Amino acid sequence: MQAETNDKMEKIISLCKRRGFVYQGSEIYGGVAGLYDFGPYGVELLNNIKNSWWKENVHARDNYVGLDSAMFKDPRVWEASGHTKGFSDPLSECKKCNTRIRVDKELEKIGIVADEKMSEGELNKIFTENKSKIKCAKCGANDFTPVRAFNLLAKSNLGDFTNAGDRPVYLPGEACQGIYLNYKNIIDTVRVKIPFGVAQIGKAFRNEISPRNFLFRVREFEQADTQFFVRPNENKEAYEKIKRERWAWYLSLGIREQNLKWKQHENLVFYASDAWDILYNFPTYGFDEVEGIHDRTNYDLTQHMKHSGVDLNYTDPQTGEKFIPWILETSMGVGRVFLAVLSDAYTEDEIGGESRVVLKLANHLAPVKVAVFPLLKNKPELVEKAREVYKMLKKEMTCEFDDNGNIGKRYRRQDEIGTPYCVTVDFETIEEGSGVTLRDRDTGQQERVKIEDLIHKIQNS
Ligand code: ATP
Repeated sequence: MQAETNDKMEKIISLCKRRGFVYQGSEIYGGVAGLYDFGPYGVELLNNIKNSWWKENVHARDNYVGLDSAMFKDPRVWEASGHTKGFSDPLSECKKCNTRIRVDKELEKIGIVADEKMSEGELNKIFTENKSKIKCAKCGANDFTPVRAFNLLAKSNLGDFTNAGDRPVYLPGEACQGIYLNYKNIIDTVRVKIPFGVAQIGKAFRNEISPRNFLFRVREFEQADTQFFVRPNENKEAYEKIKRERWAWYLSLGIREQNLKWKQHENLVFYASDAWDILYNFPTYGFDEVEGIHDRTNYDLTQHMKHSGVDLNYTDPQTGEKFIPWILETSMGVGRVFLAVLSDAYTEDEIGGESRVVLKLANHLAPVKVAVFPLLKNKPELVEKAREVYKMLKKEMTCEFDDNGNIGKRYRRQDEIGTPYCVTVDFETIEEGSGVTLRDRDTGQQERVKIEDLIHKIQNS
């Protein structure tokens, strides 16, 4: 039996496993660090978050279109983007137990800001000066190897049949590159005019040195990105609007505003004009990044134009003027938002004098919208009617049937996975035809509702 814990994040992680939201990747082989699988309820929640994002960023807008580009790309893409050279984290190893550490994060813990743009030499200097204050988390020693820049790109031999391994293709270090590669295709094939945006949800892989904090820092994850193409220098107003819209989307997920925070980047990369992150206040871990909003000038398209030799200038259809568009990017980690949503929804309260765990998820995110119970399992007429109601609801929304254990237990099970409503078929339903009881997850209140009104009632509250 698992020990009781007061740590909220540990409780959430345990609920994720217990209730089929998230499993450790390759668990039966002992698990692989930084890889997670989303279980039956997890995939529903994940899809609901992605659908809400897609609706907001594609369907609800006039000037955004969607894309789903191939994960593998010509290796030159990652040279053009700077990933083969500059996409690295500073790595050092404990000489005693070989535990790897991410030097910038360790320095951060002792109050020293190690800029991600610092050279290996600069970092080594700061690390040498301060490493007496850093201890290995595993063995407690403080004897470390010199810092080396470790590239985070993961390689594959897809399409290379030589066995030599000298023509690697890369798994995407970020999902958005496919948008730059298809920018010209999109302009040539669908009727978009600047300013316009392209949205994509895709996988990213990073050889993170020390994956940690559950879904927060993993080696395989999904990013939901938008790239908004604007005329040069017409970036400021659009950037502010995008920032406001992204903030509002988090509130639409039911996340409490006090758990969100903006953080502006202090040291911008040389080509960027501005960069802000949205942070969420994770239990135990504190405020950390869920999304980056970047004003990237014309860097990305200029790089791809240089490396591919293809003219990526935009020609204004009215004036004939040619220019490389500037790009405003939003890049969100879907797994981090999943964890933020769960953290915000996780509640321990009391209902009818009994303590319970409940996920107060927004209705549109809940994996199961409604559960149907016959009051008693051994009364065929109740079970039959409940099955009928279940079939009716299942055509319209995610719905579960449960006749296992007493009603209280069934409510608790649904509370723990965040189901907003439970329907119970009882003797009144059968004898007097007076509808079913509909129980509200958050208040525990029940009301009688006619069967024919159920769908409307659930979908509209
Ligand atoms: P961090 O500083 O936390 O490593 P980053 O600034 O490198 O993040 P970006 O490259 O801007 O992140 O990626 C955009 C988003 O992708 C981040 O805001 C985050 O939500 C998500 N993300 C990045 N790295 C990871 C990771 N290892 N695991 C899970 N999500 C990630």
